[in-house]
Amino acid sequence: MNYLSTRNKDLRMSATQAIAKGLAPDGGLMTPAVLPRLPSSAVETMKEMSYQQRVVYIMNSFLEGFAASELTTYASEAYGGGKFSHEDVAPVHKLDDGTYCLELWHGPTCAFKDMALQMLPHLLTASLEKNDEKKTVCILVATSGDTGKAALEGFRNVDKTKILVFYPKDGVSEIQELQMVTQEGGNVGVCSVVGNFDDAQAGVKTLFADEELAAKLAERGYFLSSANSINWGRVLPQIVYYASAYCDLLKSGAVTKGQQINVCVPTGNFGNILAAYYAKEMGIPINRLICASNHNNVLTDFINTGTYDRNRTFYNTISPSMDILVSSNLERMLFELSGRNDKQVREYMAQLSEYGSYRVDSASRTKLKKLFSAGYCDDDQTMAMIAKMWKDKEYLIDPHTAVAFHVLDEYRANTGDDTVTVTVSTASPFKFCSSVLTALGVKNHKPGVEVLDQLSQHTGVPVPMPLARLKNRQRRFNGVTEKSAMMDCVLDMLK
Ligand SMILES: *Cc1c(COP(=O)(O)O)cnc(C)c1O
Repeated sequence: MNYLSTRNKDLRMSATQAIAKGLAPDGGLMTPAVLPRLPSSAVETMKEMSYQQRVVYIMNSFLEGFAASELTTYASEAYGGGKFSHEDVAPVHKLDDGTYCLELWHGPTCAFKDMALQMLPHLLTASLEKNDEKKTVCILVATSGDTGKAALEGFRNVDKTKILVFYPKDGVSEIQELQMVTQEGGNVGVCSVVGNFDDAQAGVKTLFADEELAAKLAERGYFLSSANSINWGRVLPQIVYYASAYCDLLKSGAVTKGQQINVCVPTGNFGNILAAYYAKEMGIPINRLICASNHNNVLTDFINTGTYDRNRTFYNTISPSMDILVSSNLERMLFELSGRNDKQVREYMAQLSEYGSYRVDSASRTKLKKLFSAGYCDDDQTMAMIAKMWKDKEYLIDPHTAVAFHVLDEYRANTGDDTVTVTVSTASPFKFCSSVLTALGVKNHKPGVEVLDQLSQHTGVPVPMPLARLKNRQRRFNGVTEKSAMMDCVLDMLK
């Protein structure tokens, strides 16, 4: 299967090139030339499989150039061997007959980014080898919190790789920051950037576009690549858990064969919900894709009006991984909405960079409305949902997951749609102890990592091991940089 750029369909690459490059040279996102359709027996077949086997089953149809035996090895290294604390890897938790929660945070960093970032290093290093790449890859990551840690953990001590993570100085939780600045491994670097996530992301994009920097690094034997969710190697592993969740629902009798479900996804960069769209297009019985945002509701407005407009106030919320005004992966969705019209995507993206906004045409708006619903909530509503979920169901959720449940409640009240729904849970509540404790009415919070035990004692829910271990870790990184000086950090690390 070939991959093509969303901005130029003639710009083609193999799967291994698309993964090795991360981004198309024209700034577009590499996307499968054809979306494979699953055979009608797929769900029945996958139903009896382990999560790792489902990974191979789904990914195989996208990855020409990889043997099934290779994928089997990667799947067992990424998701087996005790890396995930739940044997189902991505278990589905039942709340009531029509409401399920897909828990994507049982991995080594307790956030859903692990689902993709445990797999990506395998796909990437194999892709580089298959392309005869002799230079060492340096992964640059801009993170709103969870990606950075998950990428550091995924690439830690992986041969022939370096990884450098930039996070917004005042845009991540204390636990998130601790997780990153205590990262172990000989090939890792972490630096905070003055500004918000969009500043960090824009800074990284500038570095990728800098040809002088590329030449300098090539002399030193390095080249830059991305682990941000624009890399196809990030999106692909995420398709699997939607297929897997459906199989689990079928297996437990929650749905009958072919019965449609809705999914409700707390959304930031649009990678997670995009994967749900691909799963639907491949033939997994998914009806509506419900896009949940926090106060940064640029996607809510886009889905409801067809106009994307980033010219608005940026809010730092208690669901920081969704504090985003430019959702990079939306470009792949625009490509599909426009009937794969690369010229139109190019125009939208040019308008976005020039004016900060664009309006999609009426055919795209119709498609958008048919596929998606959207809603958002503020921090108070997020807190109220955490409290309600604990009181009614004794189910402890993090703020991102709470945003999704709030939006689902509103969607149901507005539409009367009682389709069985899978809400996606993207982080362990222990990554956001302070917000969760506040939501539960606890006022005086313990400092630093002690807050983990405080939340555990208050609820009786155990602290996940990867976070409990933070207590004994040393801080290794203290760097702060202005956006304009990020290049120095890169040159410093790749001496
Ligand atoms: C990254 C992240 C999101 C947003 O996912 P996207 O794929 O960027 O839409 C939501 N919640 C958490 C906890 C995250 O880490």
